[in-house]
Amino acid sequence: MTYQRYLGSCHCQGVRYEAEFDLAAGSNRCNCSLCSKARAWFLFVRGDKMNLLCGEELLSTYEWVPEGRSESGLSYRFCSRCGIRLYATGELAELGGRFYAIHVPTLDSLDRDELVNAPLRFVDNAHDRPDRAPTDTRLM
Ligand SMILES: [Zn+2]
Repeated sequence: MTYQRYLGSCHCQGVRYEAEFDLAAGSNRCNCSLCSKARAWFLFVRGDKMNLLCGEELLSTYEWVPEGRSESGLSYRFCSRCGIRLYATGELAELGGRFYAIHVPTLDSLDRDELVNAPLRFVDNAHDRPDRAPTDTRLM
C-alpha cells in the first residue's frame, strides 16, 4: 500500500478536503438506483485518512434506506451551494470502521494518467451483488 495525499473540492470551492489513499486499490462504479442518478464514481478512504479542510457548514446530508433494509448505513454529503456530492460516509468492519466513499471527480490533485491506469471496478448493487460486475456496464 502506497498512501498518497490528495486534495479535493466541490464546484464552488466552498467545501475542500484532503484524503490519503492508495490509488492502486482502484475506484468503483455502481448501478444502484442512487448511484445511477448521481453517476457515482467513488473510491474508499479510511475514516482516519479523510480530513475536511473547510465548508462543514455548507454540507447537506441525504440518507437513503434501500428497499429491504432497516437503515441507510450511508450518509451522502453534498454542497448545499453548488450541489456537488463530495462523498458518502458510513461504518463497515471490512473497511476498518468509519469510511468515506469519495466521489472521484471531486479530486483536484489526481494525475489523469495515474487515474486512467488505476483499476476500475463495476459493482452490481442494483441486484444486491457487490461481489460481481453487472452484465451490462456500457452506461455506467
Ligand atoms: Zn460547493
